[in-house]
Amino acid sequence: MTDSTSETAVSKRDFLKATATTLALASLPFTARKALADDEWDVIVIGGGSAGLPAAIFAAERGAKVLIIEGSHRIGGTLDRSSGQLSAAGSALQKSKGIKDTPQDHFDDVMRISRNTANPDMVRVAVDNAADTVDWLQSIGWTALPEHPVKGQGHEDYLIARYQWGPEGGMTVYRALEPVVLKLLKEKKVSVLMQTQAADLMMDSEGAVVGVVAEGPDGKRLNYRSRNVVITSGGAGGDPDMFQELNGAPLYIRMAYPYNKGGGVKLAQSAGGYVRGQEHYLCNDGGVLLDTNYPSPQLAAAITNEEQRKPWEIFVNERGERYTKEADPSVDNREHALRRQPGHRYWAIFDDAILDQAPPFLRGWTSEQIRTGFGKHHMFFKAESLADLAKWSGVDEAGLAKSVASYNDAQSSGHDAEFGREHMPLPISKAPYYAIQLQGYSILVFGGVAVDPSYRVIRKDGSPIPNLYAAGEVLGKAAYTGSAYVGGMSLTPALTAGRLLGQKIMDLKA
Ligand SMILES: Cc1cc2nc3c(=O)[nH]c(=O)nc-3n(C[C@H](O)[C@H](O)[C@H](O)COP(=O)(O)OP(=O)(O)OC[C@H]3O[C@@H](n4cnc5c(N)ncnc54)[C@H](O)[C@@H]3O)c2cc1C
Repeated sequence: MTDSTSETAVSKRDFLKATATTLALASLPFTARKALADDEWDVIVIGGGSAGLPAAIFAAERGAKVLIIEGSHRIGGTLDRSSGQLSAAGSALQKSKGIKDTPQDHFDDVMRISRNTANPDMVRVAVDNAADTVDWLQSIGWTALPEHPVKGQGHEDYLIARYQWGPEGGMTVYRALEPVVLKLLKEKKVSVLMQTQAADLMMDSEGAVVGVVAEGPDGKRLNYRSRNVVITSGGAGGDPDMFQELNGAPLYIRMAYPYNKGGGVKLAQSAGGYVRGQEHYLCNDGGVLLDTNYPSPQLAAAITNEEQRKPWEIFVNERGERYTKEADPSVDNREHALRRQPGHRYWAIFDDAILDQAPPFLRGWTSEQIRTGFGKHHMFFKAESLADLAKWSGVDEAGLAKSVASYNDAQSSGHDAEFGREHMPLPISKAPYYAIQLQGYSILVFGGVAVDPSYRVIRKDGSPIPNLYAAGEVLGKAAYTGSAYVGGMSLTPALTAGRLLGQKIMDLKA
């Protein structure tokens, strides 16, 4: 039985809260926007997400007059979908659990996982300040799952447990930040222009940034003046062309925040900045997409980690060749192997006996659901012969026949000379045969705006562009992870950089 009184009370409270938020963050009529344009701002923050909100909070709490220019209809950016996984060394949370860790250990681990491809200066400032960020989040209401911190999940493990997230992932972070922002809005220390695009930067004759040209929801542009402009406009997952430009690879999946279209990169370039890091693009281990009409939504995730499920299938590329040890315990090895395959895609090949006996290959699916998926989903293929399976799935026929034969030999001898795989419970020999196509993808951009370790946007000669800063994913993921996925090393550095910039800009002013 439910308690209807308390249900009503809760929904009323939620309604009032939602109303307050909606009113505080409503888009403004032209006259009100014009009044804001007549002001001089201490700081203008372009994009109210993971990096932008802490920048606004810390600057405003130090007495700055802050204007956030936000392109979408709400604040929070990617936090609505981020897993919210944070990594920090020396946090109060770690100390409360007796975990010994230092920023130097964190630094060494990031450089180890990234095979020294991350930018050491950027990593250094991020890890040196990560614990203060997590402690601050905790002080404003963020909580971690009880068993956290852990060494890893989904990405290559850290050597020390410094990885944590809240029960609602990124939304746990957002729910901690939101009341702080609303309070500052109410106190008129922060103003927000919603549904307003930062379209251009205002520059003086010396090449210094002196404000932002912003376009409101009615298409009208106004100039907003400030000598501290912070670009925190996120990545480019909302624009396939910009995504391709910043990654050198297509946007395969529709998952990133759609309002992030790489606009901040164009702003920085227009002021003399440049992009770095594209060469580090790495796709993740892959998922089953709805179809090949890229960017496509994801249909299912495969379980490719040996700790969670030992492999029964073989993985082949479009030449029909096995290209990796299936379920290699190192996710980084699997990602790099997939990165080298044509189209960053592969097929899991199995037969009817495997479908019958193996635990389900897709996360959250039953074997029966997988079975009925053939004939229903675009990425599922079934055929009575390997030759037909190859034809229909787009895999080379001769290559597939050779790989299956060679795997079956390895299975019967118990010795996989090619990849050293040990778990080979069944041959692939009982029709019908099956293939599920998986696509390696990234949701983040690797390339981004070049900054110095103080987050000042720099020119190719290393000189800073006066008054222009950038933080968050607009810097490109590679700055903190190089050619790798390193747990928590996108979100934590975004929050940290915002926090440091908010503090620093006001310290500079004092
Ligand atoms: C599904 C998913 C899961 C993830 N999980 C993790 C994780 O667990 N751990 C981790 O470390 N990282 C994770 N990430 C990455 C991380 O969450 C993001 O990199 C980070 O949140 C980006 O923060 P940001 O402030 O740069 O951008 P955002 O938080 O996206 O904010 C950018 C804001 O700028 C606004 N904007 C864009 N262009 C303009 C413009 N021209 N004018 C005005 N406003 C503009 C947008 O509307 C948006 O509100 C994940 C990402 C995704 C998509």
